[in-house]
Amino acid sequence: MNLGIKVAKFGGSSLCDAEHFKKVKAIIESDPDYRYVVPSAPGKRFDADEKITDLLYQCHRLVERNASHEELFRKIADRYIAIAQELELDFDVKGMLMETSDAIRRFKNPDFAASRGEYMNGVMLAKYLGWDFIDAKDVIKFDRQGTFAAEWTNEVLSEALKDHPRAVIPGFYGAYPNGEVHTFSRGGSDISGAIVARAAGADVYVNWTDVSGFLMADPRVVKNPRCIRELSYRELRELSYMGATVLHEDAIFPVHRAGIPTNIRNTNDPSDPGTMIVMKPSPDRDRSQVITGVAGHKNFTLLSIEKAMMNAEYGFGRRVLQALEDFGVSFEHLPTGIDTMSVVIADKELVTRKEQIIQRIQQTCQPDSIEISSGIALIATVGHGMTSAPGTAAKLFTALSDAGVNIRMIDQGSSELNIIVGIDIQDFEVAMNAIYNAFVKD
Ligand code: ASP
Repeated sequence: MNLGIKVAKFGGSSLCDAEHFKKVKAIIESDPDYRYVVPSAPGKRFDADEKITDLLYQCHRLVERNASHEELFRKIADRYIAIAQELELDFDVKGMLMETSDAIRRFKNPDFAASRGEYMNGVMLAKYLGWDFIDAKDVIKFDRQGTFAAEWTNEVLSEALKDHPRAVIPGFYGAYPNGEVHTFSRGGSDISGAIVARAAGADVYVNWTDVSGFLMADPRVVKNPRCIRELSYRELRELSYMGATVLHEDAIFPVHRAGIPTNIRNTNDPSDPGTMIVMKPSPDRDRSQVITGVAGHKNFTLLSIEKAMMNAEYGFGRRVLQALEDFGVSFEHLPTGIDTMSVVIADKELVTRKEQIIQRIQQTCQPDSIEISSGIALIATVGHGMTSAPGTAAKLFTALSDAGVNIRMIDQGSSELNIIVGIDIQDFEVAMNAIYNAFVKD
């Protein structure tokens, strides 16, 4: 009995060899609700291994220089042949590989070359599952400038899916209006999966990867952080903006807008429920957990601008921001006081333009002083639970002060979903651990 529609995306590490194809098949066959599968290209089997997509880009670079790519392509071919043989797939895998190699040479197109990793994996997975294959170039549409055409795609794709009750649609690529292949940015199969989920009207988009979901903090900084069981799309946005990554950030939009939850799961541990990304926090979310996660990012500069009676001066803030706009610089945060205004800017934005911007602010705003502090790190503490829990800020600041961390800036978003602090880079690890430990009890 079909209760719903699930769309599954499997990342490159989940389809890196025949063993993993078997795991994928077991997962798909364990639940009849799975109707559409979006595969990536085979990824790394071990740390020093090469991703098929990287090898394909290298093949293209050789072709572009009129050098032979055949020897390199053999590495790619060997991986697909090994998978096909071990799975005893009954089709002409060598023919497909020869055709692909030849087309890479003839077309001399980097997107086309790169897309073949997903294309060939999709063909093989469809054979292995006994499902239909839909070429993404026919259903994922870009406009002539290469911008993803969301509505056009949704129309064409949902129509196509009606003819295929179960199908494999390769991730990462689509086509321009003239049919020429175009890819998303790297890691873009996540986006394809979300697009298919929207077009299928899925009840859930299951993103199968090699980790059991989102962690509450970066494990390179905080030891053994807990896994987040439930996360809202807004919390996800706050955490990923601060550098927490599991999903391609453009993969959030199609499913969020369509009201479809995303479930991050681990192909190597399918019994783990992973992380559920939902529209709104569910009523049974663990109330004792005030924060959902903590994430941070280094290398920011803080411009602190001071001027007596600033609050009474018309257009002061606008003139400061105009100076940034004139030099094409975007800012991250803008905490203000009565006579002070601070602007937090990523160092990479400022590299060559710092002096010019300062000069412009001096000219147009005539402040009493401008102080520039570089070497700032930002940490965002995020969670819907913070809205209803009194004393959250006190707990956060006490934890930082007990750890001897000096706070250089505080910004609490008006949504009360997060509190962002700016600290010195050298305090980053200590601060992340202090915040995590203050809120998470084992
Ligand atoms: N295979 C592509 C990449 O390596 C797309 C993806 O895996 O999502 O970036």
